[in-house]
Amino acid sequence: MLEGASTPGGGMRSAELTLPGFVHDVCSSVYAMVVCSPFLRELPLDKHGLQWVFPTAPLAHPLDDGTAVMLHHSLDETAHSLGADGDGYRRLMGDLVARWQDLLQDAFAPPGIPKHPFFFAKFGMRAIRPATSLARSYFQTERGRALFAGLAAHSILPLEKLTTSAVALILAVAGHAAGWPFARGGSQQLTAALVKYIESLGGRVLTNCYVESLEQLPPARAILLDVTPRQLIRMAGAKLPGSYRRNLEQFKYGPGVYKLDWALHQPVPWRATECAQAGTVHLGGTLEEICESERQPWKGKVSDRPYVLFTQASLFDGSRAPAGKHTAWGYCHVPNGFSGNVAEAIEKQVERFAPGFRECIAGRSVMGPAEMERHNPNLIGGDIGGGAAYLNQLFLRPTASLYRTPLDGVFLCSSSTPPAPGVHGMCGYFAAEAALKRFA
Ligand SMILES: Cc1cc2nc3c(=O)[nH]c(=O)nc-3n(C[C@H](O)[C@H](O)[C@H](O)COP(=O)(O)OP(=O)(O)OC[C@H]3O[C@@H](n4cnc5c(N)ncnc54)[C@H](O)[C@@H]3O)c2cc1C
Repeated sequence: MLEGASTPGGGMRSAELTLPGFVHDVCSSVYAMVVCSPFLRELPLDKHGLQWVFPTAPLAHPLDDGTAVMLHHSLDETAHSLGADGDGYRRLMGDLVARWQDLLQDAFAPPGIPKHPFFFAKFGMRAIRPATSLARSYFQTERGRALFAGLAAHSILPLEKLTTSAVALILAVAGHAAGWPFARGGSQQLTAALVKYIESLGGRVLTNCYVESLEQLPPARAILLDVTPRQLIRMAGAKLPGSYRRNLEQFKYGPGVYKLDWALHQPVPWRATECAQAGTVHLGGTLEEICESERQPWKGKVSDRPYVLFTQASLFDGSRAPAGKHTAWGYCHVPNGFSGNVAEAIEKQVERFAPGFRECIAGRSVMGPAEMERHNPNLIGGDIGGGAAYLNQLFLRPTASLYRTPLDGVFLCSSSTPPAPGVHGMCGYFAAEAALKRFA
């Protein structure tokens, strides 16, 4: 494996971004998709040093009335926390949670005939709908709708768009099925375990090997490229046939992210104290407010009250910070390539639900889209999804030939291929399958 950066991991790296002794996950932090992945969950990563840390609850969603809606591991407990919307939650999630392995086998796959067609069709009828529509039909209260909107906003799409419900459903199912864990010691530990596993199989990972052009690569029967379409065009030069190249050129990138990492003197002083039980906290208030926030980046703007995805790993993993101190990260979606500053708006959102937060800050790191792309060339304009995941780029991604390219033996394996972004390993799994099929 040739890695351009000086440390392996891509979106799974950690570093002392703020102060000595504070370990921050530079990109991904919450690994619901790893522990649910039909491929990754089978790997013996624990034998290579990986330890999972499961927060008491996967998710909290605080509201302005000082309470929080909780996504608990237990579906019943979650339904109970939703009060009048408990029945709606059971109707929406019950069958999906009961058969989560069947569901994820089909959901984490390229387009094709599902293994469980009737069950998957039942999921599909809900998943295809815009999150706004599904939330309003299953939930009557602000609490249920807000919880669903926060989950759906991980899609990085306006929540009025088709398929935004899919992301919400899958994340909630994952929370009930397996949890939303952190890697003990930071996301780099997940990478370290994967590298050790590759080495145990005879592979090697070479860092500081940035590949400018395919010409640089040693002869190989199969080459799997973990890059997005724009990078493939650059690397392949004139070798790509015109029609395929044009299709790649038409591939659209989505909004970027603007991320803050904090070193904290003390835990976040949440007004809704139950937020301290959760590894992830969604800061955006009501469905309407989150919808407004998620529409803005697509119009080249950022909401004054941006929806912030927030994590607090050190509450559950003491190795992340010096004794008694803490770490947290929070990011919001901004227009692709955005060059403005929304650090203040992000901290205001945290402060809204945790008055006194600012006084807890000992150090901060700020990364806008440009810093994100410098950290990892796959984050084009700060897009963390390898390209927008709207309907016509969700299934046939990045082109109808998916992992295969017109160059014999050259395959794409990044999150620009199905089943799209997130740390689940399935893009690589299916790219490897395509390569094996070619040489069978
Ligand atoms: C701020 C942020 C938070 C996130 N949070 C989560 C989360 O909590 N949970 C989750 O599941 N996902 C999360 N994600 C998304 C997740 O990180 C990505 O979906 C995932 O890492 C994509 O994997 P990938 O293999 O496609 O690409 P990457 O992980 O981006 O890896 C691509 C690798 O290829 C290398 N590379 C690129 N070009 C070249 C070249 N020419 N030569 C050599 N090497 C090259 C890069 O250096 C990089 O190491 C987050 C992402 C970000 C940025």
